[in-house]
Amino acid sequence: MITRHAFVRGTLALAASPLVLGYSALRSSSTALAAGAPLGAPLSVVAVAPGIYIHQGRHGLFSPENAGDISNCGFIVGRNAVAVIDTGGSAMIGMGLKAAIRQVTDRPIGHVINTHMHPDHVFGNAAFDDGNTAFVAHHKMARGLGARAERYQAINSRLLGEKAFSGTRIVMPQVPVIGTQTIELGERSIVLEAHKTAHTDNDLTVRDTATGTVFMGDLLFSGHIPTIDGSIRGWLALVARLREEKAAQVVPGHGPPAMPWPDAITPLTRYLTAVSAGVAAAIKSGQTLSEDAETVGLDEKDAWMLFEEYHRRNVSAAFAELEWE
Ligand SMILES: [Zn+2]
Repeated sequence: MITRHAFVRGTLALAASPLVLGYSALRSSSTALAAGAPLGAPLSVVAVAPGIYIHQGRHGLFSPENAGDISNCGFIVGRNAVAVIDTGGSAMIGMGLKAAIRQVTDRPIGHVINTHMHPDHVFGNAAFDDGNTAFVAHHKMARGLGARAERYQAINSRLLGEKAFSGTRIVMPQVPVIGTQTIELGERSIVLEAHKTAHTDNDLTVRDTATGTVFMGDLLFSGHIPTIDGSIRGWLALVARLREEKAAQVVPGHGPPAMPWPDAITPLTRYLTAVSAGVAAAIKSGQTLSEDAETVGLDEKDAWMLFEEYHRRNVSAAFAELEWE
């Protein structure tokens, strides 16, 4: 259900990653930020279903060159209002998303929904903070983001540099979601579901009932290695449940704009299972964390981008969680 052509103009998207090669619209619009893309130039987006537009961030770490454009964000257009789902990793990227929305529709942006607290998904919020938009998230996100706010801002201003970080500040959620909550956009409604601890302790999914499209946030990684900041056991349990639910397609937090469900989650499940089983076996045999980190999950090395950057950290997180069981 992907329309290849959609609303591509000037863009902050950088050199195309191999994973966007299926999308000519994205590939043709790569412009290096460093080469002088104007501030707030519209992000490239693709329509993955009627009224649903996705910008694909490229896999990478925060840098001045990518301005924090390293995760997916998007928006859903209803008859009366627009809902934004995630806002990118800086005010600049948020402004680019807002400009992309304005190329599609002039309807009011009623809600900004964050799928979880990580900076690459929430640091663009500032671009939408004009008093007319409600910020919505898992009821635990305010606490988690609040606890890390200072550190996140310090780290990200350093990683992005003055120009790319300019205008970025944390905008806290105002509408806490407990369980599920429905938002009416006019002739379509979206259902938000707050989950138990998995990728983080504040993961939220968004289902568009009109098209069966589900925004998975970082419960789903594709290409980019999953990162564990919550509970590996919880994540595996949640995936097992979500697999049973129907979806016409899903939008990962990192990966292509849209993917088939439940096939999309198979590689992530395999990775988390390998780490969980490997760490559990190592603990049982009396290995230490450092021995563990040398051996567990290495079969997965070639399956993921950014493996070197995150895999050891994942093993450590799994070890800390599982050693008390
Ligand atoms: Zn995340």
